[in-house]
Amino acid sequence: MREIKVLDPQTANQIAAGEVVERPVSVVKELVENSIDAGATRIKISIREGGLKLIQVGDNGCGMTVSDMLMAPKRHATSKIENAEDLNSLHTLGFRGEALPSIAAVSKLSVTSRLGESAVGWQVVIENGTINEPVETGCPSGTIVRAESLFYNTPARKKFLKSAATELGHASDMIGRMILSHPDIAFELEHEEKNILKSPGNGDLAQAIFAVYGGDITRKMKKISYHGEEKIIGFVSSPELTRSTRHYYNFFVNGRFVRSPELAAILEEAFYTRIPAKRYPVAVIHFTLDPETFDVNVHPAKLEIKFRNLPALKSSFIQALDDIFRRPADVIPGVTLPFTAPKTQPIQRGKDYPDQEIYQEKFQLVSEEPVYPQKMEVLPSRESEQVRKQEAEKQQVFSNMKVLGQLEGTYILASSPEGIYIIDQHAAHERIRFDKIKKAFCAQPSETEYLAVPGVIELTPQQALWLINNIVTIKDLGFILEHFGENTFLLRGVPRWNSGGNSEELLLAIVEKLGNDDSEQLQMDRLVEEELFTMACKSAVKANRHLTEADIGYLLTQLELSNNPYSCPHGRPVLIKITRKEIEKRFMRS
Ligand code: ADP
Ligand code: MG
Repeated sequence: MREIKVLDPQTANQIAAGEVVERPVSVVKELVENSIDAGATRIKISIREGGLKLIQVGDNGCGMTVSDMLMAPKRHATSKIENAEDLNSLHTLGFRGEALPSIAAVSKLSVTSRLGESAVGWQVVIENGTINEPVETGCPSGTIVRAESLFYNTPARKKFLKSAATELGHASDMIGRMILSHPDIAFELEHEEKNILKSPGNGDLAQAIFAVYGGDITRKMKKISYHGEEKIIGFVSSPELTRSTRHYYNFFVNGRFVRSPELAAILEEAFYTRIPAKRYPVAVIHFTLDPETFDVNVHPAKLEIKFRNLPALKSSFIQALDDIFRRPADVIPGVTLPFTAPKTQPIQRGKDYPDQEIYQEKFQLVSEEPVYPQKMEVLPSRESEQVRKQEAEKQQVFSNMKVLGQLEGTYILASSPEGIYIIDQHAAHERIRFDKIKKAFCAQPSETEYLAVPGVIELTPQQALWLINNIVTIKDLGFILEHFGENTFLLRGVPRWNSGGNSEELLLAIVEKLGNDDSEQLQMDRLVEEELFTMACKSAVKANRHLTEADIGYLLTQLELSNNPYSCPHGRPVLIKITRKEIEKRFMRS
């Protein structure tokens, strides 16, 4: 074995840097946090080649003295705490004194700074682990940190990075969150000298949201405000505005962005049944909490949070969210409709009943608990050999049903000699619509329907980047787009296979899916299928809608034609059956 040696500081810093500086966005984050900690009210971020060539962050904060500038790039040099006790009363974003040395270890770093009261400033350059002599310089008051040639000396790390556009996407995402968390700071993000994001910094959260998400989203956001033990203020989308991912959840606790499955779950609970499944609201919410009531430092990126009294927070949060739904128009009527009288004529087309062996016993009530789909086994949705063999019989499941009526405006009740069926009308419609879109797509995947009047699509800067990044894939799906300047596009043609559907929504969903997927070479099949599900879901018959006899007849006929009529595209059951045997057992007749 070789002799044991203490690592030289440059190597030690490079290893430590791996934890702090994972990719360009980590550098941007650390530098911007330093500017915020320095009390800046204007922060300008300039990036080249997604951050690999240059990341520059300039601020109008308090500035640094020369001796601070020489100290700061050393490991564990920080002005924010002196001992472990200070950790408990921390008000700054950084405190570990690791960012600057770590960035210096993997880039060519320069810090230029001037204290407000000084006439001149100083510049310090760090190269290959050596801090050069400070040079006097004229500069605006505040600090400019420049990190050039990121990862030039760690090629292994560089290899893991995605394209410049992807890295820029991460950075603009992060700055977007900074804008939303600090409406009182004017941020500006530039890439290759082109403006990507710009916020006014006048303290108005609505204007900050406008800067990040644009007018289309901001117009549909509703204010929430709750003042109790906790202060909860922000904006949440009304149910008409939803997104296909949770990407638009922005929770800030005492000014810090947090990822919180708990807060997400509460938000989703409030929206449950008000928006379609697999759709998510947009939320920008600031929580002001007593620091004693949570722990935030459980994760190195300081993104995760643990609440000490979640039930209390939950009740306040739910109350705050209630504001959005109070207006009558937003409230979805409760389930009050009684069992509709079975006026419907039975739909009978055949006399042969399906082989009971296949479907019987496959789904039965498990316990005395309320009848709820998850509690029952459902018909198999997979196309097993056996099921395929029984195609002929399957074809008659629906035609042999005798419709008894509609239940609670949501379910269709039907019977056959085998037992009773409960069909979820929404899931059934989703299945039918999905089959139709899929068939059309397989026949003409890239066919376009030209629009007489082009649609105007206004995107967020992130979405615009994602769209430009994936323009070929999007064109292959049948969309014809024209760049109209900035983040606005003209939609001149839409996919023929989605005829009758909302293609603008589809386009947005696709852009987001592509943008949120890190694998870049997203399999088109997967993408298309997933989005077809979402689209199918969107325009499907919602629960709580009265169906006419003809509507029900149509649904059943279409289900009969489907290759997979027993589950909706999301895998939820379309129908459940209570077998005659089960009924007999319950009445203790067998
Ligand atoms: P930390 O933020 O954890 O203290 P850093 O390595 O990020 O550690 O920064 C070290 C020190 O450098 C900070 O404590 C602060 O005193 C100083 N500093 C860094 N960036 C700035 C800035 N933009 N303006 C003023 N001071 C700064
Ligand atoms: Mg810091």
